[in-house]
This record gives sequence, structure tokens and C-alpha cells, in this order.
Amino acid sequence: MLSKKTAVITGSTSGIGLAYARALAGQGANIVINGLGDADEIEKTRAAIESDFGVRCVYSAANMMKPEEITTMIGNAENEFGSVDILINNAGIQHVSPVDEFPIEKWDAIIAINLSSSFHTIRAALPGMKQRGWGRIINTASAHALVASPFKSAYVAAKHGIAGLTKTVALEVAEKGITVNAICPGYVWTPLVEKQIPDTAKSRGISEEAVKRDVILAAQPTKKFVTVEEVAALAVFLCSDGAASMTGSLLPVDGGWTAQ
Ligand code: NAD
Repeated sequence: MLSKKTAVITGSTSGIGLAYARALAGQGANIVINGLGDADEIEKTRAAIESDFGVRCVYSAANMMKPEEITTMIGNAENEFGSVDILINNAGIQHVSPVDEFPIEKWDAIIAINLSSSFHTIRAALPGMKQRGWGRIINTASAHALVASPFKSAYVAAKHGIAGLTKTVALEVAEKGITVNAICPGYVWTPLVEKQIPDTAKSRGISEEAVKRDVILAAQPTKKFVTVEEVAALAVFLCSDGAASMTGSLLPVDGGWTAQ
């Protein structure tokens, strides 16, 4: 379905981003993966995408806190593959703390990585998409783009910001063959969730087991973590011709969380 297309996926060295990369490669797209991590592990991940799916996959080490590195990543992808047809903004971090104790540098980093990096990638990738009259932009938002939870002020603010960016860009390019949507996952079992459990336990004064049971899965009526494959399946659909009229949408994959 996506042969001859190129997808750039930020934050795709693990978790949801890696699942997007493998799902789109499975549809024949060439892939640019990006993110932090151990160089040998990243090389294994990159090589596995090429050998498992018979596509080309390159790695960009661009730091999503640095606008000039982001612009260079998109430019390099266009030079390497001829186009960036699919852009998935997915890099993200979390920090859990009461707002009046929230470290300023954590606030700045979350806004830069979880929100502003998407402005920079979109700004760089959109001219080529407009020229070719086809594009798919998918932003990984969150259930926290639709509702809030305490102690996650920067994350919730950034994700609500992504919702606004998604809708605005969708309107700007609605007649250009480009769709712009946000996927809003509930709790997905990835390193990002695993890492916030100790801090949530501390902020709420409860055990880590109680965080999983009473905070995380309490919010999710299915009482199950969403899987990365379920999130990636929606991205594949959004890249298909069948999704050509879906744009500006915020799409929950949250086990019923935001239905409550
Ligand atoms: P993850 O920690 O597994 O992946 C995050 C990715 O972002 C990694 O590849 C990491 O290297 C990359 N990254 C972090 N800082 C970066 C930087 N400065 N520059 C470049 N890359 C950077 O987490 P995940 O759960 O897969 O999260 C992916 C996205 O999904 C995030 O935007 C997150 O907010 C969102 N999300 C996750 C959940 C969940 O429950 N896991 C729920 C809703 C939304």
C-alpha cells in the first residue's frame, strides 16, 4: 500500500514510535527512525526493519529540542528518498510533579519535545507535501489532549497544544491532499509509562502496585493497557486512501477512558 512512500517518525527507537515504524515498513514504506538510545541497539532496530520488511530504513539522531537539527532531519530525508510523504510526530517525555514544584527545565523540555518539535517538523515537511499534492501528518497526542490528570501540567498542556496544532494545520492544507490527525492513546505499556510509576507513587503517597491498579487501569474501563500494535494499526489506516476525508480529528485509542 505504501511502496514508494517515505515516512519520518520522530521518537521511534522504542515504544509506540517503533511500532509505527514497523507497521508502515510492513506496508512497504521507506522509514526514517529517530530517537535517543544506545547506538548498537538502535542499529539493530534499524537493520531489523530493513531485513524484516525489505524496505530502506535510515536513522536520524536529531534532538527534538533543537529546531535546526529537526529541519536538517527533514531535509536529509528528502535528499535521501526524494520525498517525505508521511510525517509522524511522536517523540515525547513525561514528568510527574505538583505544578508549584515542577522543575522549570522539565517544563521547557516537555514543551519543546512534546509540542514545539511538531511545529518544526511540519514547517519543514509541508512544502514538499503541498508540491506533490499528497501527505499524511499524524501527531501522537494522548487521552491527555482531551482530559487532564493532576501532577502532569506540562504534559497535559503540551498535548492540548498538539490538539490545537493538529486542527489548525488540517484546515490550512485541507484542499491540498494532505490530512492531519492526532491519535490519542490511553495508557500503553511502554518505557514512558513504566518510568513514571515511581514518581506517581511518590506524588500520591501510594505504592507502585496501587498506581497501576488504582490510578492507571482505574482510568481505563477495559482494565487493560492499550498495545503499541493497536495504536500503529490506526496510523496505517490513516495513511490509506480510505482515510482521505479524515482530517483535523482527535482519535482516542483509550479503552473507553475519555468516554467517561
Ligand atoms: P517511549 O519512551 O517508549 O518513546 C519515546 C521516544 O521519544 C523514544 O524513541 C525516545 O528516544 C524519543 N525521545 C525522547 N526525547 C527525545 C528527544 N529529545 N529527541 C528525539 N527523540 C526523543 O514512550 P512511548 O510511550 O512510546 O511514547 C511515544 C509517544 O506516545 C509520546 O509522545 C507519548 O506522549 C505518547 N503517549 C504515550 C502513552 C503511553 O501510555 N505510553 C499514552 C499516550 C500518549
